Amino acid sequence: MTEFSPKFPMSIARKAIADFTAYSARGGATGALHLDANESPYAPPPVKGAAGYNRYPEQQPPALRARLADLYGVPADQVMVGRGADEGIEVLLRTFCEDGIDNILICSPTFGYYKTCAQIQGAGIIDVPLRADYTWDSAAVLETAKAAKNLKAVFLCTPNNPTGGIIEDDLVEQLCKALPDTLICVDEAYQEFSGRPSYAPKIAQYRNLVIMRTLSKAYALAGVRGGVAIADPAVINLMLKVLPPYPIARPVEEAILNALAPAAMATHAARLDEWLAERERMFIQLQNSPYIAKVWPSKANFLLIDVINDDALMAELNRRQVKIRDYRSTTGHIRISIGSPAENTIALEAFGVAQPAAPQDRIGEMHRKTKETDISVRVNLDKAAPIKADTGIGFYDHMLEAFAKHSGISLVMACKGDLEIDAHHTIEDCALALGTALKEALGDKAGAGRFGFVMPMDETQARVAVDLSGRPAMTFKGVFPTDHAGTFPAEMCPHVFESLSQTMGAAIQIDVEGENTHHMIEAVFKGVARALKPAFAREGDDIASTKGVI
Ligand SMILES: *Cc1c(COP(=O)(O)O)cnc(C)c1O
Repeated sequence: MTEFSPKFPMSIARKAIADFTAYSARGGATGALHLDANESPYAPPPVKGAAGYNRYPEQQPPALRARLADLYGVPADQVMVGRGADEGIEVLLRTFCEDGIDNILICSPTFGYYKTCAQIQGAGIIDVPLRADYTWDSAAVLETAKAAKNLKAVFLCTPNNPTGGIIEDDLVEQLCKALPDTLICVDEAYQEFSGRPSYAPKIAQYRNLVIMRTLSKAYALAGVRGGVAIADPAVINLMLKVLPPYPIARPVEEAILNALAPAAMATHAARLDEWLAERERMFIQLQNSPYIAKVWPSKANFLLIDVINDDALMAELNRRQVKIRDYRSTTGHIRISIGSPAENTIALEAFGVAQPAAPQDRIGEMHRKTKETDISVRVNLDKAAPIKADTGIGFYDHMLEAFAKHSGISLVMACKGDLEIDAHHTIEDCALALGTALKEALGDKAGAGRFGFVMPMDETQARVAVDLSGRPAMTFKGVFPTDHAGTFPAEMCPHVFESLSQTMGAAIQIDVEGENTHHMIEAVFKGVARALKPAFAREGDDIASTKGVI
């Protein structure tokens, strides 16, 4: 039995908002003759990709709304896309809080923008602070919320900014049930880093639950501005009346859809793994800092730190141009974001934590999108995992994964290609992208072995030699007895290594003999991989050339 009326209680919205007719923002160009919006008939002067810029975008671009609904696992009518989660928070308050009458509840210390928006809107603020150990005092939150008059929204930020902790009990559900006329707003800006499921699926059960999500943190799009509010469609429709017209510019929509292309998701996942490993490294290493009394455990992409010996630390941070968030005057802490491995190492130096001079991992990333293929690839020459290829061609995936395994590298690759035409574009473009990523990872090739030779045996023989010379060259000797292995055309095998050689800037010589096409192709992939292993391997700092450059 639910304690809710079957419909969202519209009367809890501001009367003015519930009553007025929404401004009609009629964007979205169709095939029709658009003489309805005083737009320019001219596309902007020839700037690549500017087609359509003379037309207003739709209020909620459908493709973007659908992609974000899919990303967050909710129906599209539960999503309002805005300029960041910030806009969702602002619009929520503007929709529901009557100036001078209504209140919101927060648990400080928490994200400051709830309070800012409440102040702008003229809403009162009820604070039930976190306990001294920064956990939520659930009983006090419930009791205070139940007793409060005109409480329109409770803001719960989990993982909480700036403390990094998460709500461990069923406080969210308890509040949803106990306060059917109050919005329970869960800010999940850092959910991706928490390893916990989102609360969003519970909206089906609790119509007063609102979730905020952002693309600024885990998806690296802070400069693009994109985020969503997720709620019951009745709440979303009210909020859409308040959201300013055309908030999502066309280039913004394009940028977000590109960054969240299905092929790019494997790269996001690989980065997140690395990010979380860095959080762990920072958490452990910072404990040794002479400037630090405590590092708070975190489920987000930052750490909250109790500092001692402030002035000396601040001077060290300044000297290295390391910016941190300074909360010393309010909570007595500082907050530091988890950066790239190289950035973190510089920060650790500022904190006086002696670092063994571990060389940085050699990573290459490539996202390549054409009309024919959409590819994302990430390689790490200094890690053996993860290895995952998803090109839509089973045999090729198997070969690429064998290639990664035998060359001792991590490879995450995904491709959405025009396989309905044939396998050619997918196979070639993946090889080109892989070569480009490997080249980027090799950088100036300092320390790399450069050369490799291999002769694996079987009933099949492949003789392979490689030289990361910087000069593309590929020779291939071998005749395949059949024209396919699975759906992989045998003729594409030399083509893969030609493409790899071109983009990686390497000489690759292959000579293969055998009686079975599958085994021969496999021997070639493994052979090249084996040959590359010593060529990739770090042997010191030297550049393996008498010229000093390769
Ligand atoms: C960063 C942050 C936001 C804002 O996200 P945008 O999408 O960039 O507006 C919202 N909530 C919390 C808790 C944040 O830390």
